[in-house]
Amino acid sequence: MILIVDDSPENIISLKRVLEKNDFEVDTASSGEEALKKILKKSYVLIILDVQMPGMDGFEVAEAISGYSRARETAIIFLSAASANVNLITKGYSSGGLDYISKPVDMNILLLKVKTFYRIYEQSRALNQMQDALREEIEFRKEAERKKDEFISIASHELKTPMTSIKGYIQLLERSLDKHDKETIRTRLRKVQNQVEKLNLLIADLLDISKIESGKLKFNKRYFAFNEVVDHIVEIMQQSNPHVKIIKKGSIECEIFGDEMRLEQVIVNFITNAIKYAPDTDEIHINYHLEDDRIYFSVRDFGIGMSEEHQEKIFDKFYRIEETSERFQGLGIGLYICQEIIDRHHGTIGVKSTLGEGSEFFYYIPLHPSKELINQYQHEF
Ligand code: ADP
Repeated sequence: MILIVDDSPENIISLKRVLEKNDFEVDTASSGEEALKKILKKSYVLIILDVQMPGMDGFEVAEAISGYSRARETAIIFLSAASANVNLITKGYSSGGLDYISKPVDMNILLLKVKTFYRIYEQSRALNQMQDALREEIEFRKEAERKKDEFISIASHELKTPMTSIKGYIQLLERSLDKHDKETIRTRLRKVQNQVEKLNLLIADLLDISKIESGKLKFNKRYFAFNEVVDHIVEIMQQSNPHVKIIKKGSIECEIFGDEMRLEQVIVNFITNAIKYAPDTDEIHINYHLEDDRIYFSVRDFGIGMSEEHQEKIFDKFYRIEETSERFQGLGIGLYICQEIIDRHHGTIGVKSTLGEGSEFFYYIPLHPSKELINQYQHEF
């Protein structure tokens, strides 16, 4: 937008008419004081400023606005100024640009100058935008690098913990072997097995993440009995977590279409988290049933829960709730992988939770593939 500042209404009218005819947006002020008020409120690309005005003259206006941050990019064309005077004030005014035109104004020259200033303004705006985008990109790189470093350090720590336990148990096993103490050997071997299983899960998650990144997470979908899968998982999880009562409600009698192993992985992840993030409670509830043409599956715990703000983010890669990340170990990738698996089954995943009261993780997936999906799957196989 251009601001014309002139005490003569006729000058304003004729300048305005020419500029508007050339598609410029124009605002006007009939005194220096009025112009200052307008410049305080609005940003202008260019001000056409009459030098000789009663009250504040053009130079005084230019000097006053040299300090306005809003006018940093604004150019000024003085009307009727001698070039020497213009040079005097350029010292204080290091912003958008200065020029002058003698009165009576030659409209063609004025238009030429206005167009040049506009072009410079557009170019500098494009440059600024490019600079901002570059700056943002650099920050985003930096941020990705920081996250990666943090992840490597957490992952190493997570892998080291079971490894240290395994080392310790093996040393103890050697001693038990010397004593031929079969019972203790059996207990310790079971503990080693548990730790190896933990390592195995961690490594599997890490491999899954890299497969997701490279688009190589493969699915092997077919019809299978969901009931049997849930029964099997509950039995195993109950055996390895005897202190927690896993209560199962619901049933799905028909077969469902999906990748059995991957859907099992999601259920195990939900139950493992439910046990991990509810250390002071001894019950978790599993619920599943058919809802029209899709299955609903959920795991409810009565643990630490989480606020709404976190509920939106916990499925993001590497996201862990900071307030509790010291108390509970983890990599922040399990739910991200679960989301990918459910997405690839064309389903939805979510959580309902109240801080301090517990959480319910759930997913919905279609029972059968749609016709287009069948085509797609045939393609994938
Ligand atoms: P991890 O548990 O290894 O950190 P997940 O991706 O499984 O990674 O979970 C991401 C984050 O979501 C966890 O760090 C934790 O803060 C939060 N979370 C997951 N499950 C629960 C739960 N049942 N109750 C409370 N918080 C949970």
